[in-house]
Amino acid sequence: FAAELAYFVRGRARQNLKVLALYGLFLLVLILLYASLFRYLMLELEGREYSFIAGIYWTITVMTTLGFGDITFHSDTGFIFATLVTLSGVIFLLIILPFGLVSLFLAPWIEQRLRYRPTYELAASTSGHILIFGIDPIIRAFIRKLQARNLLFVVVTDNYDQALMLEEQEGFKVVYGAPTDAQVLRGLRVKTARYVVANLSDPENANVCLTLRSLCQTPVVTLVRDSDHQELLRLAGANQVIALPRILGRFLATRATTHGAMAHVLDSFGALQIAEIPLYGTPFAGKTLAESAIRQQTGLSVIGLWRRGQLSLPTPDSILAPDSLALLAGSREQLQALELLIGNPTADDLVFVLGHGRIGCAAATFLERKPVPFVLIDQRRSTSCRKHVPVYGDATDRETLQKAGFDRASGVIVTTNDDNTNVFLTLASRHLNPHIRIVARANQDENIDQLYAAGADFVVSNASVGATILMNLLDRKESAFLSEGMHLFRRPVPTELIGKTLEASRLRPELGCSVVALKNAADEMNTTPEPKTLLQADLTLLLIGSAEQEKAFDRRYPRTENA
Ligand code: ADP
Ligand code: ZN
Repeated sequence: FAAELAYFVRGRARQNLKVLALYGLFLLVLILLYASLFRYLMLELEGREYSFIAGIYWTITVMTTLGFGDITFHSDTGFIFATLVTLSGVIFLLIILPFGLVSLFLAPWIEQRLRYRPTYELAASTSGHILIFGIDPIIRAFIRKLQARNLLFVVVTDNYDQALMLEEQEGFKVVYGAPTDAQVLRGLRVKTARYVVANLSDPENANVCLTLRSLCQTPVVTLVRDSDHQELLRLAGANQVIALPRILGRFLATRATTHGAMAHVLDSFGALQIAEIPLYGTPFAGKTLAESAIRQQTGLSVIGLWRRGQLSLPTPDSILAPDSLALLAGSREQLQALELLIGNPTADDLVFVLGHGRIGCAAATFLERKPVPFVLIDQRRSTSCRKHVPVYGDATDRETLQKAGFDRASGVIVTTNDDNTNVFLTLASRHLNPHIRIVARANQDENIDQLYAAGADFVVSNASVGATILMNLLDRKESAFLSEGMHLFRRPVPTELIGKTLEASRLRPELGCSVVALKNAADEMNTTPEPKTLLQADLTLLLIGSAEQEKAFDRRYPRTENA
């Protein structure tokens, strides 16, 4: 039924709904007009007074040709008027309205169903395609990335209405069939496929993997619902098993704690670690990047500055504001040197985790391991977790938070499954504790902006993180996820730039992205590229920039290897 309903709020049907609404308005005006005329004529011609309600009642009974006859005219003018109302009722209510309903809604709907011929298999020559089982917001975000790169993907579903919807309304290539049926899989040309993404329930995913493995060795990635099932899915033949709740929990947790540089390693490229430190409470807070002398003292490069969810690429004059975070690149030893420099006062760290679902639980587990003291709040007892003891209560209730010691918290993780609640909790947290670090989870990408507007320092979007991970697996990891919009990506030195200095390459002024590190063929990293550094042929560039800047780079310097 939902699919049917969705049909009426999209595309042409939506346009037609507007027409219907206008027509309804026209009918309403007509009825009110007749009702007023009726009262006027009755009073003028026959000296009888009727209420407005009686007028509407009379008009509708006459227009629908029901005509009870309990209120009638006795003059010629009255008869003419009544005839007119009856005739216009027949035309507007009994002919045009049903006709319009059928031709605008029913006929196109039936036609679409009759016309739609689901695809049961792909052409035998199909190859290099990506097969997708199970669609949700994460997969949709992934699909947008595939579309942006013109990669061939096929969505497989055994739900007829969904197949019709996805194909007719969204223009995806869809195959209708059961993903666990070997015959269907053969028809999907799994042997020559590039990748299979299984995003069904855990048992279904296991079944898909087993069936697939009996046919071919095409790589399969599965998204697992329950991280305890990871091993089983691997046994069933999945090449990669992504436990998204756990990854998201870790993402949220690393960003909600306020001290300790090592605690914030986000990603690594060989020996190069990418880490974040909050500047609040460090000796660098309030200084410019040049004054802070972070590179001179530790060898680390500051490659970005986060403030209220915005990542900017710093210049020597950029101020290291206390409420922002520095994104760092360097070796493990350099990060340790930094930690010594700023001390590691984790003791006064206290993080609130609002929502003890799978993601909240993963975040708590991560904090526990660090260890950072935390308070979990949930209104219900968890069905899957036995090890945590949350404070039971509604997190939107100010008293619950205050009783649990919210004033002392340095960070809060907002992670319920409802974005409205998350926006509200973000707003309330900011209000109760202006200096707290707020990390919020966005279940739908549409709500990212609202969460930032409500005062979140970081928003982690389920869909973006999931889609980026899937894309990285597909690419065998060429870019790392930092946040919405900002990426680390690596590219070989483009031929046009070989022999130029970094300064002469004009990457930053012309394309906006900036070089974080250079790696040679022997995997040695230069993490402190200078303007005079020479770009040699065997080097790999590690760059930071937005998705657009990454695209601009590829347009300017098209990649020759890999399709
Ligand atoms: P996920 O597993 O994706 O994290 P869940 O739905 O399992 O999602 O988790 C959301 C959790 O948030 C639930 O345990 C729910 O009880 C909790 N929650 C939702 N709203 C509130 C609230 N206002 N106060 C406290 N806990 C809440
Ligand atoms: Zn738990």
